[in-house]
Amino acid sequence: MSGDSTRATHAGLPGAAQGEPFLPGPTFQAPTHWAGDMGPAGYGRMVNPTWTAYEAALAELEGATDAVVFSSGMAAVAGVLLPLTRPGDVLVVPGDAYPGVRTIATDHLRARGVEVRVVASTDAAFREAAEGASLVWAETPSNPGLEVLDISGLAEVVHAGGGLLAIDGTLATPLRQRALELGADVAMASASKGLTGHSDLVLGYVAARDAEVVDAVRGWRTLTGAIPGPFEVWLAHRSLPTLAVRLERQEANAAALGEALRRSGLVDDVRWPGFGSVLSFILPDQDVAQRWLAATTLVAEATSFGGVHSSAERRDRWGTDDVPPGFIRFSCGIEDSADLIADVIGALKNVTTG
Ligand SMILES: *Cc1c(COP(=O)(O)O)cnc(C)c1O
Repeated sequence: MSGDSTRATHAGLPGAAQGEPFLPGPTFQAPTHWAGDMGPAGYGRMVNPTWTAYEAALAELEGATDAVVFSSGMAAVAGVLLPLTRPGDVLVVPGDAYPGVRTIATDHLRARGVEVRVVASTDAAFREAAEGASLVWAETPSNPGLEVLDISGLAEVVHAGGGLLAIDGTLATPLRQRALELGADVAMASASKGLTGHSDLVLGYVAARDAEVVDAVRGWRTLTGAIPGPFEVWLAHRSLPTLAVRLERQEANAAALGEALRRSGLVDDVRWPGFGSVLSFILPDQDVAQRWLAATTLVAEATSFGGVHSSAERRDRWGTDDVPPGFIRFSCGIEDSADLIADVIGALKNVTTG
């Protein structure tokens, strides 16, 4: 298998053709001219060549047979949870990961007769809850706790009980974690984060190896119309070749900033999974955290993560995560490490000793 940057650069491209661009432009279509018996290519809610090229790229990077692109990460989550659960099924979801997932489970699926088990993101809790489950949804690394789960160990337990394992790998991207190769049945991610990486797109996808799973997910998308615009998907595909270099720089920044934060003695509990752009740390309280966010000049106060511009937020402002008021989720961009560290640590010194 080729290296990450090679794969990300060439994935989903049609191959050289005389006089043709490397990446064909977006195809805008509602109906196409289509005579005779109706086929899927006849209408734009069913299929679009711009999606198909990006889906081929995602499938290749995830080690999947197929991928289905959605209008957002949450549309992709719903595109797995809704078609793959029935009344009487047992669904396991994390209690401390992306909040929208458990809200669909507890507010909508539970009311429709699905038994929902909400667990902490630890290997032990998931394995215990997986007993008798038809679908286990896990997020690793988890957001915002940054816990890393043992996917292959969990897959064994889930499969022994006849269930399916779905992994939300948004924080890792398929260059750092390939859940299907580790035994999961579904790899899902929000493409709004590091995958597209420029803080200007909202997209998501589901990748799988089993044709029945792919058909169920794609069928759901067609039926509900949770489809992305071709221009957004084209931009996402255009962003893919730089994924490896963006990640390398973001990770170099995360490693260096994490080290500088630990050495500063000004923050608690610096966490970084060892890959990806996101690290976390804890400031003494809400006031110090907000003043620090205001005092930085390179770090945008913003939710989300994985973009080329560094950003951070006080995660407790959402009220959906079990974190202390001074908990900061920090997303490293691709600025120069020295500039980023000087800004972050300088602002910390200002607000903690000023
Ligand atoms: C952002 C995010 C989602 C939801 O994705 P959207 O594109 O915002 O709908 C799901 N899971 C994780 C881990 C996320 O970070």
